[in-house]
Amino acid sequence: MPKIRPLETRPFRFKNATKKFHCPLCASERYLTSSHRMSYKQYIQIAVLTGVTTFALYDYFGFRSVVFGVLYWAAYEIARRLVFRSEIECPYCGFDASWYKRDVKVARRLVDEFWQKKNSPTDKTPEAQQPNL
Ligand SMILES: [Zn+2]
Repeated sequence: MPKIRPLETRPFRFKNATKKFHCPLCASERYLTSSHRMSYKQYIQIAVLTGVTTFALYDYFGFRSVVFGVLYWAAYEIARRLVFRSEIECPYCGFDASWYKRDVKVARRLVDEFWQKKNSPTDKTPEAQQPNL
């Protein structure tokens, strides 16, 4: 009889996954679709956006409006890291590797809160209503 391990394999697979790994806590297969680094397309977007802004504000700022490119770059970096951080947390057990690296107690508390929220009777999401196998 095969050993049943429902948390280790999932039927759903991500396309274009940048990283594939197993969750250290529940051993589920995990996929990240974004990287923490910006791609060349995003650098091109920043350059185009800076060019358009410089062109539009040339009468007011001259070539000093190139400074907006630095602001766009910072905004892109912040957005990229926020998107990456939102994908790190395991959707099956609530384990967050970034918090585990910074503070183990906070990571443990987050996992406890995840399971309390998942097992609470007030949670009416269809995922929470499925029986635990
Ligand atoms: Zn997990």
